[in-house]
Amino acid sequence: MTLQTRLRDVESRLQEACRRSGRNREEVQIIAVTKYVSTATAEAAVREGLNHIGENRWPDAKEKWETLKDQAVFHYIGSLQTNKVKDVVGKFDFIHSLDRLSLAEAIHQRASLLGLEVPCFLQVNVSGEQSKHGLPPDELGAFIRQLEPFDRIKPIGLMTMAPYESEPEDTRPIFRKLRQLRDDLNRTAVWREPLTALSMGMSGDFEVAVEEGATHVRLGTVLVGKED
Ligand SMILES: *Cc1c(COP(=O)(O)O)cnc(C)c1O
Repeated sequence: MTLQTRLRDVESRLQEACRRSGRNREEVQIIAVTKYVSTATAEAAVREGLNHIGENRWPDAKEKWETLKDQAVFHYIGSLQTNKVKDVVGKFDFIHSLDRLSLAEAIHQRASLLGLEVPCFLQVNVSGEQSKHGLPPDELGAFIRQLEPFDRIKPIGLMTMAPYESEPEDTRPIFRKLRQLRDDLNRTAVWREPLTALSMGMSGDFEVAVEEGATHVRLGTVLVGKED
């Protein structure tokens, strides 16, 4: 399948999911996850209008970032070690994996040095799987309050990864829970501004995520494919 065919297919599935759930297509941002593909393929994706790029490791992202930084918005979607923060802040426009205070502090310090503010998603481990990164849902409120001193961090929403399910429908409770967590935080005004964004949905489950309120879907294989 060509990139254009895949894009057309994803776009129509996305529009259908929006239609089913009474949402506007404009509410959902596609992030093209290029970690499995070459810089040439990432460039082709940007030419097709996919100008939000997601990567999860700086060494793999470097060449793509250097090539496309003026044409695309970069999202850091992988787990982030504190000593790698210097590679990410100032290059990536969004961080999707803020999940601990030591990381918040490192991002804040680096951003202060560069005179930046960094929009961040708080990653939540909704499923509770041992292997998954992210904050336990019941620690989210306390965590966000502790971000107060780190004024270079701008929390904009929540991110999660659902466990792999052969039946995409089975991911629905995870996505619904993330939306409820966001709405609860906003209802109790834990943060000074409402958190609006929900980064959820990947190749296997993005339609369900959109039906449950995703504002950012992170699409690799289904969209840009997988090269070795
Ligand atoms: C790799 C990755 C994706 C995209 O995965 P696909 O299943 O290929 O769409 C999305 N989110 C995160 C955090 C990833 O690491």
